[in-house]
Amino acid sequence: MTSSLEKINSEREILETKIELYEKLDWIKEYIMLKKRLEEANINYENELFNSKVDECSKCEHLIVSFSEDYNDFDRSKSYEYGCLKCGINTYIYNNEKTLDLSLEEKAILSYMKKSKMIPRYRNTNIYFNNYIEFEKACKLYTYFKERNKDASDEMIIKMIEESVSSEKEIKNPKEIVKNNV
Ligand SMILES: [Zn+2]
Repeated sequence: MTSSLEKINSEREILETKIELYEKLDWIKEYIMLKKRLEEANINYENELFNSKVDECSKCEHLIVSFSEDYNDFDRSKSYEYGCLKCGINTYIYNNEKTLDLSLEEKAILSYMKKSKMIPRYRNTNIYFNNYIEFEKACKLYTYFKERNKDASDEMIIKMIEESVSSEKEIKNPKEIVKNNV
């Protein structure tokens, strides 16, 4: 054993002995137990969140819109992705799962799409977004407007989203883009 390895090892042993002494104290035992319970509660919470998102996707009457993530400079063509404004299922995370750092909600969406084979391929609205970030934003806007206008139809909510995003001048006229590119 080299001297530096010996030094590190003896340091390690001292730390282990100290920790063993602390672990015998009642209030430390209580702390360890609480920490364990918190970890369990966190796991339960995440599982519940995951399952409720999958459930939401399975009960959703999907409102599919299109958006584009890729732009081919060579032939100036765009490839289209499709996603639901209500539950968030979308082809972008389905096609790019290996390169994206998915949130728990996105993992649930992906799991639902794989199990149910519900991969949106066609849109049922004329609304179009420039990229995934705008699509995600529109999903949040859908929830926001729906919560505040419970009786509003999907068409009315879409109008509100269009007005909201066009007033921000971040999204070009969706209908015009669809007309020119599809
Ligand atoms: Zn949906």
